[in-house]
Amino acid sequence: MSFFSNAADQDKWKEKYFNLLDEQEQSELSYKKYEASYKEKEDLLCKTVVRLTIATTGLDPLLDPHLLSMRDQLKNGINSHALKEELEKFTTSVAQIQHAPLQDSPKETDLLFDFLLLQYSDEKQQNALNLLKKKAQTAKFETSNQLFIAILEAIESDNGVSTPNTVSNLIDIKIVSKQLLLLLEGIEIPSIFDQQAKIAKQLLATSNQTTSAFETILDRSFTLLLRIKQHNQSEQQDIDKFLSHITEQLAALDVSVMGASTAAQKSAENRNRLDRSVSEQMQQLQLSSTNATKLEPLKGIINSRLASIAKEIQEHTQKEAIQRQKTQQQLDDLINKIKDMESESCDLKSKLKIANNQALRDNLTGLPNRNAYNERLENELARWKRYHSPLSLVVWDIDHFKNINDSYGHKAGDKVLLLIAKQLTEHSRSTDFISRFGGEEFTMLLPNTDGQSALILANQLRQIIEKTGFNASGSSVSITISCGVTEFILNDTDETAFERADKALYEAKEQGRNRCCLL
Ligand code: GH3
Ligand code: MG
Ligand code: MG
Repeated sequence: MSFFSNAADQDKWKEKYFNLLDEQEQSELSYKKYEASYKEKEDLLCKTVVRLTIATTGLDPLLDPHLLSMRDQLKNGINSHALKEELEKFTTSVAQIQHAPLQDSPKETDLLFDFLLLQYSDEKQQNALNLLKKKAQTAKFETSNQLFIAILEAIESDNGVSTPNTVSNLIDIKIVSKQLLLLLEGIEIPSIFDQQAKIAKQLLATSNQTTSAFETILDRSFTLLLRIKQHNQSEQQDIDKFLSHITEQLAALDVSVMGASTAAQKSAENRNRLDRSVSEQMQQLQLSSTNATKLEPLKGIINSRLASIAKEIQEHTQKEAIQRQKTQQQLDDLINKIKDMESESCDLKSKLKIANNQALRDNLTGLPNRNAYNERLENELARWKRYHSPLSLVVWDIDHFKNINDSYGHKAGDKVLLLIAKQLTEHSRSTDFISRFGGEEFTMLLPNTDGQSALILANQLRQIIEKTGFNASGSSVSITISCGVTEFILNDTDETAFERADKALYEAKEQGRNRCCLL
């Protein structure tokens, strides 16, 4: 017996079956559509949460491990159970944050150091970075410049900045990029690196970087930082060279200023003031150079200081010139005065000499006069007493001289005086001292000569004069002369000796004249 009673029933069931199949297909299709839509939404949700965790990492150390864990889990799809657990822990941590006492937010530089420590694994670099991290935590770096130089030195190897390790997936590229960007913005970038720095900043500012792209950006950033550092170092060397050159110039300048300073008190005061001023300017220069990080502004400061020093020196030189002129004038005056005085002194000496000569010379004959005789006698007596050598005195007197005057005139008498003076001088020894004692009387001092020798010498002179003769008014006139000779004896004075000689002269006259007598 057939299950279906008739064909009509059979068709009815067929139709119902196909309808069910259609419904089933429709239902499966719409489920697949729903499933695809759900998956899409789940992916979107995961991405959003991942990004949120990235954005919030670093806000609080309590949350960071949960955020990292959630991010890891979401990468492998949603595990409801695990995610629920993590979310609960996260919620608890958030609650703790709300009730926890206010803490300083983690320093952004710490995150940078954490990143660098992951990137540069060499032991030396690790030690240097750890030390630097502690230093950055305790003592704040005054400028980003100093921090970046310290970081570069820490990661620098002998061949420059070593290539960093492959960027770890654990690293939050966005945070590190932000830190590098801050660092780049904080440092002074020399103008020649402007373009490169602009590009590096743009790259660092770009979000959603892939790990490999970030490696390239990182490499470029550090290469740029290294170049900036090298540039600054070479600029510092230029500054040092420039300063040493300037210092040498200033030293030379100082020496020339020192050398130029010759004037007295006023000049010394000016000099001291200049020294002080130059010294102050130099201190300012030193200060400027110590604080200098750029050559051009430093050159500007130095040029301005040098201009100021040059002005000081110019003023000093002008004052010095005026002072020197004054001093020179004073010196010239002084020299002229000295010259005048010398000239006056010369005149005076010459006048004195003349006066002296006049005082000691006889005007007519030019022979030493009586004063000169007295002076000489004093010296000869002293020598005679000291050495006990003989000393003799001769006193001459022209015979009947009055007659000559009377017969031929006074002028003729003068000529006779001159003639006799000449004969006595010419025929006596150089050591003998002849003087015109007065009138027609002459004296002779004969050192180292005893009385007898003096008498012989006197007679020779007498005979010479006798033979000379004198022409007066066309006729030959006989001239004779007499003398008294004596030798100085013990206890003699000039007077006692003279008296004896005069007495001898008197005897010579008495004995008929033209004679020499010794007493
Ligand atoms: P006696 O032989 O005794 O010495 O005789 P005397 O004439 O030479 O001596 P007296 O004393 O009588 O005269 C000296 C003269 O000498 C007197 C004087 O006028 C002269 N007489 C002195 N001084 C000068 C002089 O400078 N020029 C001239 N021409 N005569 C003078
Ligand atoms: Mg006489
Ligand atoms: Mg006489």
